[in-house]
Amino acid sequence: MSLRWKRALLKISGEVLGGKEGPLDKGAFSFYAEEIAQARQAGAELAVVVGGGNVARGAALSFLPPTAGHTVGMLGTLLNGLVLRELLLARGIPAVLMSALPVPGVAEPVDPWQAKEALASGAVVIFAAGTGNPYVTTDTAAIIRALSVDADVVLKASKVPGVFEDDPARNPNAKLIHHLSHAEYLARGLRVMDGAAVAIAQEHGLPLVVFQADREGAVLEALQGKRGSLIGGEP
Ligand code: UDP
Repeated sequence: MSLRWKRALLKISGEVLGGKEGPLDKGAFSFYAEEIAQARQAGAELAVVVGGGNVARGAALSFLPPTAGHTVGMLGTLLNGLVLRELLLARGIPAVLMSALPVPGVAEPVDPWQAKEALASGAVVIFAAGTGNPYVTTDTAAIIRALSVDADVVLKASKVPGVFEDDPARNPNAKLIHHLSHAEYLARGLRVMDGAAVAIAQEHGLPLVVFQADREGAVLEALQGKRGSLIGGEP
């Protein structure tokens, strides 16, 4: 089956990268490396933004000044990026790690032009350290990086199958919404994707898919338009 979108920005939340083994779960990272390999084989060009909630969230580090806490959070995403790059390289997949906070010798600086070249040549580009600025989230980074590399869509891998009318953790009767506009998403005050990020996507007409990567082939199915909830775009 053909891809609905060729160039995609895959946002992998930190919450799906941690596990019983600790914050950096071998099984979870290997799963995503395989998912990326499969999507690439099907012809997709994939950029990735890694979250960091499995390592640290700025807001939770209340014993630190907020700017310091958020910087710790951003550096946590760099750990995820490093691990993912290694697992992709181990599978023979060319992968570039770009960090919004400079760490020479470990990651390249973020460079949208180089990133686009790398994507066009078949490499996976991993963006770490969020936007490089405190007080925002990696969802916002995902939208900005997607726009910067001309991605057709943002695919957010989440713990839940998509966008629900209400928080499914609190309201088990909440219904899954298959398609909604950015404006509807924002008006409902939904939280599965950061509202600030959705507002930027809305301004630029960038479609978003929230989906659950709970089984093999999920990323490819999301790229084919067969999985998750679509925010914006044509149903
Ligand atoms: N963060 C930040 N600026 C950014 C992106 C992230 O300050 O541009 C910090 C923020 O403290 C956040 C943490 O990094 O809590 C981890 O990112 P996020 O919560 O978005 O990760 P996810 O929920 O996707 O795992």
